[in-house]
Formats: sequence, C-alpha cells, structure tokens
Amino acid sequence: MLGGMQDAQLRISRIIDHAEREHGTREVVTRWADGSTTRSNWAGIAADARKFSQALEKLGMNKGDRIATLAMNHGHHLSAWYGISGMGGVVHTVNPRLFTEQLVYIINHAEDRVLLFDKVFEPLVAGLKDQLKTVERYILFDGEGDYPTFRELVDAENGDYEWVEGDEREPCGLCYTSGTTGNPKGVLYEHRSNVIHAITEGQPDAMNLSQSSVMLPIVPMFHANAWGLPFACAVTGSKMVFSAVNDGETLCGLVVDEGVTHSAGVPTVWLAMFAHMDATKVDYGKLEMVVIGGSACPRAMIERFMHAGVYVLHAWGMTETSPIGTIGMRPPNWGELSFDEKVDIICKQGRTPFGVEIRVVDDEGNEQPRDGESSGSLQVRGPWILDQYFQDESGKCVGDDNWFDTGDVSVIHPDGTMQITDRAKDVIKSGGEWISSIELENAAVGCPGVAEAAAVGVYHPKWDERPLLLIVKKEGADFSDEDVLAYLDGKIAKWWMPDEVKFVDELPHTATGKILKRQIRDEYKDYKLA
Ligand code: ADP
Repeated sequence: MLGGMQDAQLRISRIIDHAEREHGTREVVTRWADGSTTRSNWAGIAADARKFSQALEKLGMNKGDRIATLAMNHGHHLSAWYGISGMGGVVHTVNPRLFTEQLVYIINHAEDRVLLFDKVFEPLVAGLKDQLKTVERYILFDGEGDYPTFRELVDAENGDYEWVEGDEREPCGLCYTSGTTGNPKGVLYEHRSNVIHAITEGQPDAMNLSQSSVMLPIVPMFHANAWGLPFACAVTGSKMVFSAVNDGETLCGLVVDEGVTHSAGVPTVWLAMFAHMDATKVDYGKLEMVVIGGSACPRAMIERFMHAGVYVLHAWGMTETSPIGTIGMRPPNWGELSFDEKVDIICKQGRTPFGVEIRVVDDEGNEQPRDGESSGSLQVRGPWILDQYFQDESGKCVGDDNWFDTGDVSVIHPDGTMQITDRAKDVIKSGGEWISSIELENAAVGCPGVAEAAAVGVYHPKWDERPLLLIVKKEGADFSDEDVLAYLDGKIAKWWMPDEVKFVDELPHTATGKILKRQIRDEYKDYKLA
C-alpha cells in the first residue's frame, strides 16, 4: 500500500526551479581566469541552464549520455551542470590535474560524448584529442578559439524548455576517484542522492547555510561536486562566489569584496590565504565559517581561524560518500568549553548527520566498541554512499548489509565523534604497533617555521618500519631537525618520535591538493635512516 502523498521525484531540476523561483535575485558571482568579474543570479543560472539543455538536445544528446567538463569553478560551469542534468544527462567532472593517461582513460571509460573546457585547458585538450574515442563535440567555456563557445550555444536558444523527467534514482553526475592502485574508478551520483545530500548539507549542525549566506567554494567543482555546495546553496538560496583562480590574493580579495560568510576547501588552500594575509594584513571580512576536509585539518590551522572568530567545520568524506560522511558539529555545551577544549573537538572528524551510519571493524569484521580507543577499518552506509563503481566488472563493492569499506583507520568516541587515525595504507607499522602518520604530521606543522610535513614509514631491520618526517620550511625560516624533535617532545608518544627529520624543498601533491603520500612512500621505501 502506498501513502497518500504526491509522487514528486527528487530530481536536480527541482533544486534549480526552487532557486530560480524563490531566490532568483540572489547573486552568483564569477571571478574569471583573466581577472574579470561577471555577476549573474539564480534566475540567470537557471535561464542559461534551460538554454543549454536545448542546445545539447540539438547536438543530439539523449538521456543518460555523459557530458564532460574540464573546468575550474565559474558560473558557466554551474549553468552547464544544471543544464546537463536537466536534459537527463550525466555531468562528468574531469579533474584537469590528472596525468594525461588518466584523463584519456577516464574520458574513454565514461564514454563522454561532449567535452566542455576552459580556455586555459586548450593545450591540454589539444594533446588529448586524438586519443579520445567517444567525444564528438568540444565546447569552450570562456574566451575564443577553434570551437563553439558555451555563450554562443546558449544565446542561440530561447529557453522555452521543460526539464526531462524520470526516476529520482537515475544518474546525474560522475566523478572518478584518483585511485591509489589500478585505474581510477567512477562514482555515479543519482538525482536523489544529490538532492538529499544537499538538504542535509545546509542544516544548522552542518554548514549552516541560509539565504543570507555567501559561499565561496574553493574546493573545485571536479572534486566530489565541490562537496555538493552548488546544490546545497541553490536549496538554501545562498549567494555563491566562484573563482577560476585560487591564489591567496584573489581569494582574500573576494572574501572581503563579496562579503563571503562561508568558504570550503582542503587544508592546503588556506595556507595560500594565510601567506597573503600575513604579507598584507588583510582580514577575514565577514567570514563566519570555513569547511575544511579532504585530509586532516592541522590543529595550528584550526587555532588560527578560531582565534579570528571563524568557525572551522572539519568534515570527513570521500568521492564515494558524495562526499559528506561526518561533520564537526558543535556539542550543546559548546559555550561552556575552553578554547583548547573546543579545538580538541574540531581536530576530530565529527559526527554523522542523519542519512549516514558509520562503524569501525577489526580485521575479522567484528564491530569495535565506541570507546575512543578501539581502532579499526572505518565503514559507512547510507543513501548517498557508493554501492558500485561505474561500469566496474567486479560488481558491488559492499556486502549484503551495505557497509562500504573506506580504507581509513579510525576510532569512534562514546558521543559518536569519529576520529581518523590514518589511511590503512599510510599507517606506519613499527614493531607490530601502529603509528598514526596523520597525528605525527599534524603535530609537526604546529612547529614554528614549518610550512608542510609528511611522515612515512621507512624500512627498519628491527622494527619493520620507523617514521621519517619530511619538512618543507616556510620562506626565510631557520631551524634544525633537533628543534623539530624538541618541539614534538611531549606532544606525541616517545616511541612515535621520527627516527629522522629531513628538510625538502617541496612535497608532491595529488590532483586535489592533498600531500601525495603514495609517491613519497615509494620514493623513500628503501631510504637508509641516519
Ligand atoms: P582522493 O583519494 O583522491 O584523496 P577523496 O577526495 O575521495 O579522494 O579522498 C577521500 C579520503 O580523504 C578519505 O578516505 C580520507 O582518507 C581522506 N580524508 C577526507 N577528509 C578527511 C579528514 N577530515 N581527515 C582525514 N582524512 C580525510
């Protein structure tokens, strides 16, 4: 028996219709790569989206077709998202920072029929083109060149268009994970999963978004849908500010000039902002909250923001989890806590919103108690968690009970707060015990003069592995390995002390701006500790 309510499918088009109708004049601002700024609003984004749907249909695109974007964050990219999913297509956001072979692999694997790209990626596209087997059309998002532009296609349509309807469980987005082994794998998002994720994301205990909020997503739109923010902000009617470039000066300028209240990005992006702030003394404007995730947020970064009165919403998730898994919610007694107690809470990865369940299991799959001490593999399930990778022969990647294994190692505290202790592959195994490389790194970046730190396990004849700590110094900083060890003394367990501290000029980063531990591990595998 069905209930008595209406059959309204939760499709992405419902979100943009709502934003257009109820928040049509709320602005969507873009700072382009050439330094120019354009201003649109939710009504403008919706109008362009409808016209782009029409243009795609004229180009012969059908429901279910994958349409790729190779682009930074901007308003055209946003309209294209809503236009593609509005005509029943699947937006495949391609990460331009991947290696050429990976780009070729994923575009061919996704069987993308159209590729939209930014002018800055024209040379990249020129190098790929011969190897792309399924792409029939190329469209330039900005500038001019040998291809039709997004603007030309959109301006040629009248916008008299009805969104394509269908089941809410149909796909609307595709994002490949970088993949630590083997080929990248595709995560195929659904209309329903994105809509309910968006509704959750705006809630007070999550990103606390409202029509008064001004959101600057620094996290790229090709990184797990910019963490779902372009959907969440349309639900809440928040103003959005996009920047196609991510240097400290541009970002700080936008924060102040556009009255940004909320921003989001991986830890490394904030370092560029801090450096610019230190050099110029610009302040945080109206910034209330920064969402930090993608890798563990160092304590020193949390302290700096919190001292300035900016709340750090430390969140954990993955491409496979849409990406919200856990969020650093403020407990009811927040107001009574000391500064350090607050920072202690934010350093952990937070609690689950409604919709996500987590558990920690040991190697035999036994659920571990939520005692804050028993660590194991973190598993997760829920309606916006991956069930099966796109066109993957190995089939479902969860068991009958739907638990998805994240590859992260964590503990869960009695109040439900989850704390990542490491990625399974990054833990340093010393004498049968595990050393958390994340905790070591986070302690190290608190040391004055340290810009970035990476801890990896290096072969040791007696202990199997011992920690090697690699450090990039801030410009002009002068200190020795002994200073670092003295700083760490008392902050970590004695047996966690790195056997060696090595200074390097830079560390490799992943396509999404995280420190590339895999490459460092490979490089230093056979390193002889001093
Ligand atoms: P990639 O593997 O390319 O980094 P994802 O963006 O999907 O792809 O990364 C997900 C992983 O990032 C998680 O499995 C976890 O290891 C790490 N991660 C994400 N957020 C956090 C966080 N707040 N603290 C620690 N690790 C995190």
